[in-house]
Amino acid sequence: MSNPVVAVVGRPNVGKSAIFNRIAGERISIVEDTPGVTRDRIYAHAEWLGKDFNLIDTGGIEISDQPFVTQIKQQAEIAIDEADVIVFLVDIKTGVTDADEQVAQILYRSNTPVVLAVNKVDNPELRSQVFDFYSLGFGDPYAVSGVHGIGIGDLLDAVIDKFPTQAAQIEDDSIRFSLIGRPNVGKSSLVNAILGENRVIVSNIAGTTRDAIDTRFTSDDGAKFTMVDTAGIKKRGKIYENTEKYAMLRAMRAIDNSDIVLVVLNAEEGIREQDKRIAGYAHEAGRGLIIVVNKWDLVDKNTHTLDGFETIIRQEFQYLSYAPIVFVSAETKQRLAKLPKLIQRVYQNHTKRIKSATLNDVLMDAIAANPTPTQNNKRLRVFYGTQVAIQPPTFVVFVNDPDLMHFSYERYLENQIRQSFDFSGTPIHLIERRRK
Ligand code: GDP
Ligand code: GDP
Repeated sequence: MSNPVVAVVGRPNVGKSAIFNRIAGERISIVEDTPGVTRDRIYAHAEWLGKDFNLIDTGGIEISDQPFVTQIKQQAEIAIDEADVIVFLVDIKTGVTDADEQVAQILYRSNTPVVLAVNKVDNPELRSQVFDFYSLGFGDPYAVSGVHGIGIGDLLDAVIDKFPTQAAQIEDDSIRFSLIGRPNVGKSSLVNAILGENRVIVSNIAGTTRDAIDTRFTSDDGAKFTMVDTAGIKKRGKIYENTEKYAMLRAMRAIDNSDIVLVVLNAEEGIREQDKRIAGYAHEAGRGLIIVVNKWDLVDKNTHTLDGFETIIRQEFQYLSYAPIVFVSAETKQRLAKLPKLIQRVYQNHTKRIKSATLNDVLMDAIAANPTPTQNNKRLRVFYGTQVAIQPPTFVVFVNDPDLMHFSYERYLENQIRQSFDFSGTPIHLIERRRK
């Protein structure tokens, strides 16, 4: 099910983003010398000794208009809420500071395991000073250097040692979906409305994280669903809740744990930059995707409104041309009853397998109707194709030379596949391989 979550906390400039990048195995992103530079990557997948986990850099979650101390306290709260293990990062150069102690105070109050790491231990001579940090009360401090990549392995050993033991896997034959979107689009209202219309199976299944609660329900026709992370969607009244980065973090975690993602837009406010970023993540993750336009009751309607809105969505989200769009209202329940069927259909498409013979008929017809491109007098030859994966459906196409596959021709083939089979709601991937 869901992977454990590790959060890195600590006051600004201790090297959180350097450590994050080390652990995430991402060396491309250069740590700036400027403190507090805005970071885009605050969430990443990571792996150590065959254990997969997700990593959060709380330092990237800026809570504007708040004093410095409030900010770092809030970041610690987020770590407690979101993580299974916290890496508390401090700086050997400054020693223990007041701010470190404030963070420690907050971490004491939670039951989340904490691993203390002392950063910027760039050379062995500095190691003796690490013992000063025992005073923070989190046991053995781990000496690391984010910049030089020292000590990261030992730190990660300690971290995975503290992962919760996975609860026995519950037989899950339900379709897992989540609602994502920026604050105020109506996610919690939709959660309540959807659950109100369906038969909720009483026992909630707790994920690995305390805070992640999945709710199971069956629709009228007996189909089983799991709505992912309904607890996270509910309002909790924390000050960081409406920050953009926190919303992104929530969205990314929900995407990770779902088969199908419902990207919720607010009909009243139209499309914002943040909507596009959130939808972009869902698309890149290769999940099944449905665009849900909520608050449709607030839109002054004439016959063209629906088409007009749809046209705008198609323009703004060109890469989501496969996603169905539904116009709903959590308030009046308009069209909500259609959602379970639509989610089921998208799930079927997301897990669809096409027989090679059928696929090749389609490919050969496509090639006959529109000859393959040439480059430097060399023509692309397509020998055959085969589906190699589902979720999303992925096809390998064997060719004479992958470099001859032009982007537009690949798109043509994808469209031909889509015309022959129902893949609505799911991305499909085409991979060219040279035939040996
Ligand atoms: P954050 O604000 O906690 O995310 O800190 P950053 O990762 O942005 O790092 C703050 C500063 O510390 C930058 O100038 C980094 O180059 C520097 N820094 C990070 N890790 C190390 C390290 O291991 N050794 C040294 N000497 N400097 C480091
Ligand atoms: P979230 O932050 O995405 O979870 O959004 P909420 O569910 O908290 O909704 C934000 C506000 O929009 C609340 O005041 C809701 O009552 C209101 N709201 C949500 N859905 C609808 C809807 O379909 N129609 C109308 N008129 N208001 C809605």
